[in-house]
Amino acid sequence: MTANTDPQHDRTDAPPETDVPAGATAHGCPYCDRPFRREDQRTLHVGLSHYDRMTEAEEAAFREVYSAEEEELGLYRLKLVGALVVVYFGMLLLYAVVT
Ligand SMILES: [Zn+2]
Repeated sequence: MTANTDPQHDRTDAPPETDVPAGATAHGCPYCDRPFRREDQRTLHVGLSHYDRMTEAEEAAFREVYSAEEEELGLYRLKLVGALVVVYFGMLLLYAVVT
């Protein structure tokens, strides 16, 4: 796929080389043709990389997907903290029993 050739954006993080297997469904970015497996990934990419050129509909979709991802990340962090607490007190109890 092609890299972003917008001269106003001198990015150092060039998009990675991608290869879409035959028969696979890809959601291509309308601005740089980068393929994405899921539509929400493309929506996030458009909002983060092409925020200066996206339409109002794309911006609304980006805000919706972004807040949904924020909720997912919040739940993930909560589960992670819970797992750390369980491991910590598990090790503490194990230490108390063994010694
Ligand atoms: Zn793009």
